[in-house]
Amino acid sequence: MSDVLAPGSVIGIIGGGQLGRMTALAAAPLGYRCHIYTPEENSPASQVAEKTTVASYEDETALAEFAAAVDVITYEFENIPVDTVQRLSKLAPVRPRPSVLAVSQHRVAEKDFARDSGAGTAPYRHVTGLDQLCDAVSEIGRPAVLKTCRFGYDGKGQVKITAETDLAAAWASLKTDDAVLEGFVSFDKEVSVIVARGADGTALAFPVAENHHVDHILSTSTVPASIPEATEKAARATAVALAERLELVGLLAVEMFVTTEGEVLVNEVAPRPHNSGHWTQDGCATCQFEQLVRAVTGLPLGPVDVLFPTVMQNLIGNEADQWLDIAAEPHAKLHLYGKAEARPGRKMGHVNRIRVS
Ligand code: AMP
Repeated sequence: MSDVLAPGSVIGIIGGGQLGRMTALAAAPLGYRCHIYTPEENSPASQVAEKTTVASYEDETALAEFAAAVDVITYEFENIPVDTVQRLSKLAPVRPRPSVLAVSQHRVAEKDFARDSGAGTAPYRHVTGLDQLCDAVSEIGRPAVLKTCRFGYDGKGQVKITAETDLAAAWASLKTDDAVLEGFVSFDKEVSVIVARGADGTALAFPVAENHHVDHILSTSTVPASIPEATEKAARATAVALAERLELVGLLAVEMFVTTEGEVLVNEVAPRPHNSGHWTQDGCATCQFEQLVRAVTGLPLGPVDVLFPTVMQNLIGNEADQWLDIAAEPHAKLHLYGKAEARPGRKMGHVNRIRVS
């Protein structure tokens, strides 16, 4: 097993947010040390990691020094320039590999990839100008959703096209020449599956989480999801198929719609831990962050049995001010991210409420 990194090895994590923080916290009990690379001073991840490099993603010298100081590199968010990750991959193993990141950064590449893997998606058209948007709307019909291909998150960079929408105004509002028009899915539920795949090709999908958004931001994830067993199986099988086709080593989060007819459609993928997987920290035999550490270091993956039915609730903005009440609640597990300033819409922490029978 020469490919397995021994305890004491250093995991380099690109990005300093809460996902990096919780990955570093999960690495410690297995004996690994973490080195964060982030442009941000005093980031949530650097507060709990052994070392941090604060530098830009374009700083070649800092990137080379970082690569030399670590044994494997992973990343905790997907909007890192692919060039940066490609450069690093010549100096140290990067898991997941850079091509996985490239697919997840572009909504059309992502949907093409999902379709090529045999997964369903909403109907979609790549749109690069107003004329194309008009054609795409005639083909797909209204309602539809127009989204920027890159850098959209939490509903930002998207506009709903209804019967009343003026297409020229909608196009101008996106301020891009690279967009996708998607048919509006009348979904029954939004769900997600996080799948891990190890270097030996073993893939294991976590149970399906049922997600509820408020103002386009994830509010709660509930496990088990209230979906039929066949849908649960189909969603997990879809996530495994995507991970296999990507030859992923690491984690892939797959957001999906379950339609009113029970069909599972892929909406988005992210090659990293995911907010909808935070329930695993307290409700699952292995948490998603430990699973990422296991996958990238070559350890065997851990089991994914549900230990406790769990509802994860995000603490957004000043909701985190409730920390003392939450800490006093039985079976509520509080996770705070160490962010100094509670801006509206900012994820400050989360709470996992486990059901102990
Ligand atoms: P996204 O940024 O793609 O995750 O979209 C944010 C949210 O907008 C999703 O969680 C859905 O609630 C909604 N949404 C996105 N795309 C569609 C679609 N094609 N049909 C219906 N709702 C959508």
